[in-house]
Amino acid sequence: MGDERGIRTWIKEPLAILASEAGSGIVVEDDRIVEHVPSGKSPSAPIDAVFDARNHVVLPGLINTHHHFFQTLTRASPRAQNKSLFPWLRSLYPVWAHITPEWLAIATRVALVELLKSGCSTVVEHHYLFPEGLDAAIDIEVEAVRELGLRAVLTRGSMSLSEKDGGLPPHTVVQAEDCILADSERLLNRYHATHDGAMLQIALAPCSPFSVTAGLMCESAELARRHNARLHTHLSETNDEIEYCLQHFGRRPLDYIESLGWLADDVWVAHGIHFNDEEIARIGAARMGITHCPSSNMVLASGCCRALELEMAGALISIGVDGSASNDMSNLIVEARQAFLLQRLHEGAENIGYRDILRWATEGGARCLGRTEIGSLIPGNQADLAMFRVDDLAFAGAEDPIAALLLCGSHYADRVMIAGEWRLIDGEVPGLDMANLISEQRVASRMLFSKANWAS
Ligand code: ZN
Repeated sequence: MGDERGIRTWIKEPLAILASEAGSGIVVEDDRIVEHVPSGKSPSAPIDAVFDARNHVVLPGLINTHHHFFQTLTRASPRAQNKSLFPWLRSLYPVWAHITPEWLAIATRVALVELLKSGCSTVVEHHYLFPEGLDAAIDIEVEAVRELGLRAVLTRGSMSLSEKDGGLPPHTVVQAEDCILADSERLLNRYHATHDGAMLQIALAPCSPFSVTAGLMCESAELARRHNARLHTHLSETNDEIEYCLQHFGRRPLDYIESLGWLADDVWVAHGIHFNDEEIARIGAARMGITHCPSSNMVLASGCCRALELEMAGALISIGVDGSASNDMSNLIVEARQAFLLQRLHEGAENIGYRDILRWATEGGARCLGRTEIGSLIPGNQADLAMFRVDDLAFAGAEDPIAALLLCGSHYADRVMIAGEWRLIDGEVPGLDMANLISEQRVASRMLFSKANWAS
């Protein structure tokens, strides 16, 4: 080692930690976890700094695998309330069509900060909205992610099938397919990193069976695979979608994407609710990933993902907050509690525990993204940590500190480390003017609705 040794920090004596043989903590060197310290022991080599973690529950940084940042601008909108997915989308597309680059930049920072404060170290964004003037949406998001230091997979989403061609969205929010593919290739070339520890990746994500063509699904898959990038979409979210697929393609959603080369282990899909037993077996055999989005599914009354059965069949399961117009919060530790409650109700109290859910929110997320160096605290992995305090009123009297995160309802992390850097300290993002960010978002949201009302 000699002069080449990095800065070694001992995360010392945690109250509890989601790692075996690390009762006295872990040692982080630069961007990596390098050592587990067994209970009662000290690190095996000299250290440079100590973080006293006696008040902290230490988890791997949480991984959110599905979101739409722009939707933070249209939370709790009366025009979208009390609707299921298709009418909900129809009520919001005309508003979203007016989002400007400036408002997207603000909304992205809001979503990222909210996720970071909830213990997220890796975020996935599914941006599929490219009305006129918003061509640089992904570049705008890259800037925000880099500024806040989060690890990210930004998916270049797309919509090409408007109402006049039999799709759901209006023509104001769809793009020509050659334009989508050219921009997808530009983004892959410019930003997609494939090395171990990559901070930024691009994936391709045609929005849904009812908003893109089969041709775009195939060409997107071909392009992503040429760049060693992954594929994402919404699938099997509602019965309306199944009806749509039967009517337009003569097949159920899973048969449809399988015919396009999408039933594969480099694909993860959001929701995955309405699969039958035979489809679950096929998804498991293909080792496809599923993002379970319980809050969105409950708000829109879409249904309940059979996540445990899918996992037992071989599928990879992760958790996502989904867009914050259908959730309407971007808080992953709260979402994990929602997943715990919904899956308990669905599977029975004996069949699923809080550790299953925490596994989905960490390691499961990493696996859906094809990553092995994040999502768990094993030595050699990236130093991505989410640290929660359990000493306020909500936790008073709690016996098991890790279980308490979900059972007592943790809302915010106290510290988040990403690639060895503290990105959240004492619950705050260093250098961020939070009051200003909230005020900017409030103004942007009001202006967006008045612009949309004026245009309609
Ligand atoms: Zn979604």
